[in-house]
Amino acid sequence: MEKFYLTTPIYYPSGKFHIGTAYAEVLADFINKYKMLQGFDTFMLTGIDEHGQKIEDKAKEAGLEPKAYVDIQAEEAIKLWKKMNIKYNKFMRTTDDYHVAAVQKIFERFLAQGDIYKGEYEGWYCKPCESYFTETQLVNGMCPDCGREVIKMKEEAYFFNMKKYANKLLEYYDSHPDFVKPDFRKNEMINNFIKPRIRRFVRNKNIIFMGNTSAKRSKTCYICMA
Ligand SMILES: [Zn+2]
Repeated sequence: MEKFYLTTPIYYPSGKFHIGTAYAEVLADFINKYKMLQGFDTFMLTGIDEHGQKIEDKAKEAGLEPKAYVDIQAEEAIKLWKKMNIKYNKFMRTTDDYHVAAVQKIFERFLAQGDIYKGEYEGWYCKPCESYFTETQLVNGMCPDCGREVIKMKEEAYFFNMKKYANKLLEYYDSHPDFVKPDFRKNEMINNFIKPRIRRFVRNKNIIFMGNTSAKRSKTCYICMA
């Protein structure tokens, strides 16, 4: 039987899920069930992405430890998808043991082979968005995404050595035009990340309640190329 794999975004559980979350989930469920009807051996993954300052703040507001807070969020999400009759195979949490172990292993390996290296990152930081912006990205000195105040921040960070891979990736996308779809997303990724050789990889934040990259280093490993 031919296999079909599908994943939703793993949602950021800083607050209650909303219509946008449900929209992505329903679409994925729809595609997954359609593929099932067509006779595919399907596997659908969904889940939550548990890290960050915002979650730590929300947990504090609720008088909980971050892990206890995201445990509740996970439970709520599972209940919600059940109520909506969403049929998935795996509910993934980034705090799952096997995921933490895999991240640690990949991090160590990348570090050892020089694919990531330690450096320093400086920029304008928006706390609610948990994002850094360059001077030119700011709109009237404010966050371009939410319009709130930004603060200048500097932190130690690990960087991905994109120079090593950019040309190979670009050649691969050229010779495999269907590898990334839709085209506008592919172009966005190429123009924003691959071509400018974006080098940011891991943020070293003070909050280390989950997904530590190693016991030796107390870092939180974030999404690659943020
Ligand atoms: Zn913002």
